[in-house]
Amino acid sequence: MELIQKIFDAGVVGAGGAGFPTHLKLNCKVEYFIINGAECEPLLETDKYLMRTKSFEMIKAIEEVGKQVEADKLVLGLKRKYTKEIAQLQSAIKALNSKVTLFLLDNFYPAGDEQILVYEITERSIPEGGIPLDVGAVVSNIATLVNILDAMAGKPVIEKYLTVAGEVKQPCILKVPIGISIGQCIEAAGGSTVQDFSVIIGGPMMGSIIHQNQIKDEVVTKTVGALIIVPEDHYIVERKETPIHYIIHRAKTCCIQCSMCTDLCPRNLIGHKLRPHRIMRSIGVAENNEEILKEALICCECGVCELYACPMGLSPKTINGYLKKQFREKGIRYQKGQEKPTAQQIRAYRKIPVNRLISRLNLTQYKDCIVEGPFAVKTFKVNIPLSQHIGKPASPKVKVGDRVYKGQLVGEVPMGDLGANVHASIDGRVCAISDSIVIQSDENNEVIS
Ligand code: SF4
Ligand code: SF4
Repeated sequence: MELIQKIFDAGVVGAGGAGFPTHLKLNCKVEYFIINGAECEPLLETDKYLMRTKSFEMIKAIEEVGKQVEADKLVLGLKRKYTKEIAQLQSAIKALNSKVTLFLLDNFYPAGDEQILVYEITERSIPEGGIPLDVGAVVSNIATLVNILDAMAGKPVIEKYLTVAGEVKQPCILKVPIGISIGQCIEAAGGSTVQDFSVIIGGPMMGSIIHQNQIKDEVVTKTVGALIIVPEDHYIVERKETPIHYIIHRAKTCCIQCSMCTDLCPRNLIGHKLRPHRIMRSIGVAENNEEILKEALICCECGVCELYACPMGLSPKTINGYLKKQFREKGIRYQKGQEKPTAQQIRAYRKIPVNRLISRLNLTQYKDCIVEGPFAVKTFKVNIPLSQHIGKPASPKVKVGDRVYKGQLVGEVPMGDLGANVHASIDGRVCAISDSIVIQSDENNEVIS
């Protein structure tokens, strides 16, 4: 069977970001197939673990995908400091006589932003509003590659590797079924070490926050890669939870137009016409200058302006997110740039050192924790969303009362549509269907190593 068909059947989506269906993304011909192993968000360990332990299989999978997209250049980008992973991958490349090359990055944020990684490797800036394909590249991250690897063996996406870090008794990597509750993952990491906590889903910079009363209902999906548990009054929680009207009011009254947000903006530094300080000014003086406000549409929401650059503690990124939503509701899109952007020469000196970022984020105490695992977590109940990806939700293929087995297709989309199939992640009986499928087994919760 063709690789694209296998990837479609397995329901593979981008495992890190918004979950773009991989069978559509890889249906192209490019010069570069780039694998994103930069794992640039602080405290995350999963990709490193996967690169260390699955290096041979990964190199084989890169070669296979490379053939599919007819890429001349197969490049895995990872950080120079990942010495163990580099050694493992180099021996796999040598043993397999592979044409995969490793591109070593400095330890900066956001090295793993798709557009920044493409620039680092190819020295080509993707046009504003564009995608890597515009400069002859396609990018997959490490966790997606592992799912492609499974798809090649006929195994659907039913499990996730997760980093669980921060205020837990045992920071670790877990291997969990899709649809398991966040609360069970925290329990599997020994439980929280503080009484009142919040959970950052994803990395501290780009992740979202859920509260303690939501951990039973919120579940792990195909795009969740980490859970960072922090005290509920942690700096990051306060920043991310500030109401938008308060953020706008502060922008109007406190922005000193120093332009640090623009000077350090990674997208501005690769030549994009994204100037958060001008957006802030436009918001501040009610200029209502749509042309300037539309620059928000090319913001990747990396958070550098908000959580690192701004000396006044303001939130350009959140304002950009707010503006993007408003433009989307009005059906306004960014017109893809025609000019080739040129990166600024000063860019090399304006990369954000990750250790300094960790300190700014008040996460230093969690930085050097020993992360154990992986621990496989079994559960008796999963709640599998029919939409875990960009595009339309999958349609249920089962009904309440049906017995299903692990790996069985339970929700499908037609091939060619923007969407992805979903599969049962445990054996059991379907007990509810809404915008998700709830499957219950007779087993008890269990953590096994
Ligand atoms: S860094 Fe802060 S104060 Fe300076 S221009 Fe940007 S938002 Fe305004
Ligand atoms: S979040 Fe801020 S720093 Fe990041 S791309 Fe958007 S405007 Fe630039």
